[in-house]
Amino acid sequence: MTLPAIAVRNLVKRYGDTAVLHGIDLEIPPGQVSCLIGPSGSGKSTLLRCMAFLEEATSGTITVDGEVLGFSENSNGMRERIPAATNRAIRSKIGMVFQQFNLWPHMTALGNVSEALRTVHKMSRKDAEARAMEQLVKVGLEARAGHYPSQLSGGQQQRVAIARALALKPKIMLFDEPTSSLDPELTGEVLNVMRDLAAEGMTMVVVSHEIGFAATVGSQISFLDQGRLLFSGPPSEVFGKPRHPRLEQFLDTYL
Ligand code: ADP
Ligand code: MG
Repeated sequence: MTLPAIAVRNLVKRYGDTAVLHGIDLEIPPGQVSCLIGPSGSGKSTLLRCMAFLEEATSGTITVDGEVLGFSENSNGMRERIPAATNRAIRSKIGMVFQQFNLWPHMTALGNVSEALRTVHKMSRKDAEARAMEQLVKVGLEARAGHYPSQLSGGQQQRVAIARALALKPKIMLFDEPTSSLDPELTGEVLNVMRDLAAEGMTMVVVSHEIGFAATVGSQISFLDQGRLLFSGPPSEVFGKPRHPRLEQFLDTYL
């Protein structure tokens, strides 16, 4: 059996007294696209944010590439914080793209993609810009390298955000509703970039209401409902009939 890219075990997340994730078990296969679907408020973003360690789980463990992220847990459920340097090293394997592009408005596309390479990775301006340019080529935006976000369409801005994440050379890319804030005519260009990335064998976890994308690109579809993973499987199994009533209801809303 190949090692999962990310293994989530009995993950519980509470905000105060409210449990948002009720014990999630999920394995993300390497080199494939795993899609998370489910109604608004079901906990998809929280799960993704826990995987990226932007959020600390209340209990349970997350293992990335065989290494425990954040907290380890012994058999008695005692939690022990993983050293910060180890967490940073594990986190650097993960790139994330959000619904909101969060680009720096005062920087060009090239500036946005090269910034972290210079400030975090201490690369020279020349090297950082060369690597940033490679990523802009990859998302089809080399001709827009000198444009500011306000001069780019939403779809182009999101492609810059993807290039920015890729420039850090992650092994795993997490996408949280990457096309949800785009006009419908602009979603295709972003999904195409994601398809290309999938075809290159990037491990991806995608939260999206684009059921067509999930069905054609995803190898694993997981359905989250009220903080519980109701089921997970290949698209043929999940979307084939008969369907779970909650999924049927969800598809009625989004198809
Ligand atoms: P989804 O992405 O599926 O729409 P979320 O993960 O954003 O769902 O949210 C799941 C639930 O957790 C929602 O009920 C939401 O209100 C709640 N929630 C999310 N973030 C917080 C927070 N920081 N504090 C309190 N409740 C939160
Ligand atoms: Mg969300």
